[in-house]
Amino acid sequence: MTATRVLVLNSGSSSVKYQLLDMRDSSRLAVGLVERIGEETSRLKHTPLTGGGEEREREEPIADHEAALKAVSAELTADGLGLDSPELAAIGHRVVHGGLKFTAPTVVTDEVLAEIQRLVPVAPLHNPANITGIRTAQALRPDLPQVAVFDTAFHTTMPESAARYAIDVATADQHRVRRYGFHGTSHAYVSRETAGLLGKAPEDMNVIVLHLGNGASASAVRGGRCVETSMGLTPLEGLVMGTRSGDVDPAVVFHLARVGGMSIDEVDTLLNKKSGLVGLCGDNDMREIRRRIDEGDEAAALAFDIYIHRLKKYIGAYYAVLGRVDAIAFTAGVGENAAPVREAAVAGLEELGLAVDGELNAVRSDEARLISPEYARVAVAVVPTDEELEIARQTYALVGNPS
Ligand code: ADP
Repeated sequence: MTATRVLVLNSGSSSVKYQLLDMRDSSRLAVGLVERIGEETSRLKHTPLTGGGEEREREEPIADHEAALKAVSAELTADGLGLDSPELAAIGHRVVHGGLKFTAPTVVTDEVLAEIQRLVPVAPLHNPANITGIRTAQALRPDLPQVAVFDTAFHTTMPESAARYAIDVATADQHRVRRYGFHGTSHAYVSRETAGLLGKAPEDMNVIVLHLGNGASASAVRGGRCVETSMGLTPLEGLVMGTRSGDVDPAVVFHLARVGGMSIDEVDTLLNKKSGLVGLCGDNDMREIRRRIDEGDEAAALAFDIYIHRLKKYIGAYYAVLGRVDAIAFTAGVGENAAPVREAAVAGLEELGLAVDGELNAVRSDEARLISPEYARVAVAVVPTDEELEIARQTYALVGNPS
């Protein structure tokens, strides 16, 4: 039997998201999510997408990742899609931090796992969960290739001039302090799809990708290779996000510690979880912020303005980094859905060849589409991201068809 299926696993500290794809036509056979692992109120939501099955939801304590994967496996088996199927070619894992070593998807070996483990100090929240996900999947199907697809890989092409912070080189190197960037799977996928939308090869295009979800990052992609991105050592740097501050003067940290009496952990929590849109106005959902603006809420309006101001600064900076820009692509929850954000981000940039057509921008669609007027020199596009498909593609391309 031909093995054409790939299971994609995205393991977080208390959740596992999964999708089973058939790579013959990139179709999805099942998708689902286990949340609140380790709590009394764990929940598994499973949606089979073949054979007319219906979404199923189970609320019961799921103690750990192993129990979660077993529960997922049981749901897939009930749909005739079990993990023991000979049709399963590989399991593709999203791994957040691949450091400098992993520049491409990699078949997991003991050495690879050890290297992902060595990167835990620079990704303390994410890599441990990713390792647990891989180990658990290995235990379930030891015979199957497990492939790690790294969020940082696409950014490893950044030149040293963009990747280095201007701090003491020896100290930086000793502690691996440099700009790694994240969301790379999405930036890779969206920059390539944008070229496809314009009927061009990625090698012939310079693209600015704006991945605006709850986490948000921008990247400058020259000829298909990333040359600059807004996240750094961690996903905290760069744009204003749902709960993260993005760029601040690093002295803010010293000030809050010395003058504000806050501990380093408290400042960490403040900047990562209580800042960004939620810190500015109490809401991190762009829908709610727009609703409040429509009702005349000033805090929401200011939060929106700060969000847009930062976005514009990055568009300008990346324009200068690239020299010539062929397209700007908006993606992820906010980028794909929030027309006012897209309109405001490029407003007033006509001199740079940038404009948005009001009618095209207002269209709601799941398809990749252009929203710039015909006369505009730079194409502005909305390109839905699909990190799971990209992970599945990269995984399948690597392991091919083993049977
Ligand atoms: P994550 O970073 O968690 O993957 P997503 O890419 O799913 O996030 O984006 C989630 C965010 O997208 C929400 O917090 C919300 O701000 C925004 N969003 C989702 N749908 C809409 C919509 N219809 N209009 C405006 N914003 C939206």
